Amino acid sequence: MSCRHNILCVEMPMILNIGCRVHTTSSISQNAHAEVADDVLLSPSVPLTSIQGQSPVWSLSLFSRTLPPNMLTSTEIIIFYKYVRISDPVAFVAWQRATCEELGLRGRILIAEEGINGTLEGPTESIAEYESRMHGRPEFSDLWFKSSPGTGEAFKKLIVKLRSEIVATGLPKGCDIDPNVVTGKHIGPEELKRWIENGEDFEIIDMRNDYEYAVGHFANSRNSTMANFRDLPKIAAKFEGLKKKKVLTVCTYGVRCEKASGFLKQEGFEDVYQLHGGIGTYMKQFPGEDFLGSLYVFDGRMTEQFTSKYMVIGECTACGSKTERFGNCAWHDCHKQLLICFNCAKHEKGIWCNDDCMVGAASGVPVR
Ligand SMILES: [Zn+2]
Ligand SMILES: [Zn+2]
Repeated sequence: MSCRHNILCVEMPMILNIGCRVHTTSSISQNAHAEVADDVLLSPSVPLTSIQGQSPVWSLSLFSRTLPPNMLTSTEIIIFYKYVRISDPVAFVAWQRATCEELGLRGRILIAEEGINGTLEGPTESIAEYESRMHGRPEFSDLWFKSSPGTGEAFKKLIVKLRSEIVATGLPKGCDIDPNVVTGKHIGPEELKRWIENGEDFEIIDMRNDYEYAVGHFANSRNSTMANFRDLPKIAAKFEGLKKKKVLTVCTYGVRCEKASGFLKQEGFEDVYQLHGGIGTYMKQFPGEDFLGSLYVFDGRMTEQFTSKYMVIGECTACGSKTERFGNCAWHDCHKQLLICFNCAKHEKGIWCNDDCMVGAASGVPVR
């Protein structure tokens, strides 16, 4: 198997973690944490001629540590977006669906006239082929794919949908933001690290939903408390006091900040930045630093970690004990995602997010 790094990847029962990609043919159970090779240093000394009859020239120096089970896979997850005018969205939806089906990829892709927003999982080689085909299209030749090790179970199926926006903002017609016209200044993880270490005077506004913030966030960041991104129009009033300050918006992998930072500018915020590549890119570059807890992700993994050494900060809605387990409010009219620990999840009547939901569940009538 040849990877995109032009390094020989041999068939063997262990993980070859080469920089940003994980290549593996492991048969190790994904259900338990296991001691696996973390870093593989390649050096041309001891040949591994016994493996698959190849004539490799590498020896392997292995350093072990405990990795989460979702890192023991041969699959890869990519997340990507781009705001760019799609001239024929219907035809592009058909092309995406056909391409993904041909390559055996699962996930979710939203397409609108304003661009594309997607997350896909599949075998590493299929993901590479998908990236290559996308990069072959002129409008996506610079598309940035953020990559994580897969689980093989991140998505049950493939969904490709045509929408009016690639992330629903709730902004009224005529007030929508075109990030190619108005958006916050992009800064990368290194720049943010400098800001933090230099003690610069700035505020981080987390543009994710409240349940995402609950399981992990930057230290000292502001929680937008949005139930979903359609609450975006409400946040200008909430952060009114920051209009003259330097503010940095953050979100999972960057797509929401393109419009959220533009929205703040449109609302009169004077000095607005956004974290390019999002929290995931920062965590990958500075694992276990500055960001507390885990990164919520919208797939079967629920959360993503970049180091085994991190502190769980999520707290059970019912009992307050530390947890990263998500459940749903038991009131069917709400069904909001909540942190609910394993013990409280056994409660026969379920857990509600607040008294209104408890009353609603008891009476069958929503409390508004
Ligand atoms: Zn609990
Ligand atoms: Zn509820």
